[in-house]
Amino acid sequence: MTDSIAERLAEIRAQIPDSVRLVAVTKTVSAEAIRIAYAAGVRDFGENRIPEAIEKQQQLSDLSDITWHLIGHVQSNKAIKAVQHFQWIHSVDSLKLAQRLDRLAQESDCQPQVCLQVKILSDPNKYGWTVSELLEDLAELDQCRHIQIKGLMTIPPLGLNESETISVFEQTRQLADKIQQQGWSHLQMQELSMGMSGDYPLAVQAGATMIRPGQIIFGARTTQTR
Ligand SMILES: *Cc1c(COP(=O)(O)O)cnc(C)c1O
Repeated sequence: MTDSIAERLAEIRAQIPDSVRLVAVTKTVSAEAIRIAYAAGVRDFGENRIPEAIEKQQQLSDLSDITWHLIGHVQSNKAIKAVQHFQWIHSVDSLKLAQRLDRLAQESDCQPQVCLQVKILSDPNKYGWTVSELLEDLAELDQCRHIQIKGLMTIPPLGLNESETISVFEQTRQLADKIQQQGWSHLQMQELSMGMSGDYPLAVQAGATMIRPGQIIFGARTTQTR
């Protein structure tokens, strides 16, 4: 297993430019397996459940240069922990949540970097803004000065073919470009968090700056946590 995690990481790295940040998704993965990935050079880890993440952060507290990324939906009663325990939150999926995180970030003296989760195609199973909803909320999002809005995150709906998947990623990039060109005073759009085990090469082709593979590094999850 030790070799295979390092080997799989090497295979992924060989396929992506150095500028793309590899966020290894470790939901359901043990702290020991995270140590193996760390030894292979990974410093960015993604978790979708806050209690599970905090437990692993405690077990791994000796690895002080890890950057922790939250990639799962944040319930409002967990928002304070999200702000205090993660440097990145990819799954900011509503204006209400953004404003709550912003207030808590100020109170906690934290400045988490965040991505806004957007649904390019309608998908009742996923959280996030539709494109038109997001465009309407930008002025208020730009007022959030304690969270650092850095870009967009997307998860394509299940069951798309390759060209449909590429299209979702490209539309996400185009949306980020459009927002960037609007010249907001605080919010920025240079980051694109997109691409998981099954589709990260397509995401990188479309301009992803952060990919979030999990199973392709650590092996198939037995429990479904999406
Ligand atoms: C689980 C998950 C991933 C990783 O998925 P894999 O299939 O393991 O690559 C990436 N992003 C989000 C938001 C996830 O929930």
